[in-house]
Amino acid sequence: MGEAVTSCDVLVIGAGPGGGNAALQSARLGLKTLLIEDHPEIGTPVHCGECISEIACQNLDLNLPDEVISKRVQGIRVIFPDRTEKCLTEEGYVLEKHLFERWIADEAVAAGARMHLGHKLQSMERMENGNFEGWRCNGKGDEFPIEAKVVIDASGVAAVCSKLVKTSEGKPLNEKGKVVAGMQYELTDVPTDGYLDFYIWPSYAEKGYLWMIPKCDGRANVGLVTEDRPRAKKALDEFIEDTHFKDSEQVLPPWKEKGSPAFGGTIPISGPFENTHHDGLLLVGDAAGFTSPLFEGGSHLALKSAVYAAETAAKAISEGNTSSEMMSEYTRKWKEEFPPYDKILRGKNALFNLTDEEMSVMATCFPDEMSDMGISGKTMVGLRLLLRRPGLYSKKIVPAMLAFGYSRAKYYGW
Ligand SMILES: Cc1cc2nc3c(=O)[nH]c(=O)nc-3n(C[C@H](O)[C@H](O)[C@H](O)COP(=O)(O)OP(=O)(O)OC[C@H]3O[C@@H](n4cnc5c(N)ncnc54)[C@H](O)[C@@H]3O)c2cc1C
Repeated sequence: MGEAVTSCDVLVIGAGPGGGNAALQSARLGLKTLLIEDHPEIGTPVHCGECISEIACQNLDLNLPDEVISKRVQGIRVIFPDRTEKCLTEEGYVLEKHLFERWIADEAVAAGARMHLGHKLQSMERMENGNFEGWRCNGKGDEFPIEAKVVIDASGVAAVCSKLVKTSEGKPLNEKGKVVAGMQYELTDVPTDGYLDFYIWPSYAEKGYLWMIPKCDGRANVGLVTEDRPRAKKALDEFIEDTHFKDSEQVLPPWKEKGSPAFGGTIPISGPFENTHHDGLLLVGDAAGFTSPLFEGGSHLALKSAVYAAETAAKAISEGNTSSEMMSEYTRKWKEEFPPYDKILRGKNALFNLTDEEMSVMATCFPDEMSDMGISGKTMVGLRLLLRRPGLYSKKIVPAMLAFGYSRAKYYGW
């Protein structure tokens, strides 16, 4: 007897925001869609600060149900080393992220996708008959082997297809990128006025930042991202001990029954991968290296790249040609839409090259509200800086300032 094979048009790997939306959009476009997820349930462990902007929801046509929203928020407040505070006001939400991911996956199933939990992709083999015809995938889970015309890799930072698929020179499709560590606690009785507080305090979070992301009932995620991975937990504990957060209680988040109260993960920081498409393959979200450089948000980018991936897959499948050339439409689309990573990264690097004192001088030159400075506002900041510390221009202060502008929701910052 031959091996039972599961066939589909599109196989989506991973049911995070990128994978859930890729499956939803593919199913809506009439494709026979399979969504697999390694974990036995969707969304846990949570590895996210859980915020998403209103602009993202509008851009993605997301009509969030009440149960996935923990709190509506006013925007971001950036707190510099000398405690100068500046706002980037733009509305958004703090989610119960695991419920959000389950909701998207359920929407995908309602639209016709099939979902299989506890299924882990472990190998991929090309199917060819003169031309490329698809992928034969294998791994852990009853549905394997699975044959798909197009695979959408939404496996997050694991970026599984970048390792499994080889180029014609026999190299992995993409080299492993750099990551930073992110970690947080859920605290209770945290005071808030509805802003996300982002602390740029390098003495605790080297080349990163710390956050207080308020949730309902006085709960809040308090955490950090840092390039100093070994020190991440110690630095977060010190930050909490040294600030007003020490009065708040650490609790297990609602989705966690036992173990350490700390939770988190890693975030890609090398920028978009060199190859985000290949024969019958599209990489979305963290699996493609899509995160916003300064504050490392990735959900908006994952959800949007999933839309482009589904559109590209549908077109290629309808034309009976899923070659790399057809898939390149996807790369063209995201490159046209997403902000210039390298430019923002230069700004971030310039920011972290400033001393704490220089950063605070820069901050005092910003208006209290940074969300819409316009040309005249930016000129004013430039003039103030020129008067107070002209030497800062040699430290590329202008790109550093612009990095904040590029962290706004309309540039996929959150
Ligand atoms: C501490 C922290 C805080 C963050 N805060 C925010 C924030 O507030 N806002 C924001 O926008 N972004 C934030 N991010 C980033 C955000 O979480 C990610 O960018 C986003 O989740 C990416 O979505 P994704 O679908 O690409 O990948 P993921 O959400 O990582 O989903 C990938 C899925 O693939 C599954 N998978 C992996 N390998 C396989 C396999 N071989 N087979 C099957 N399934 C597999 C995984 O189990 C996982 O469920 C944060 C990240 C961290 C670590």
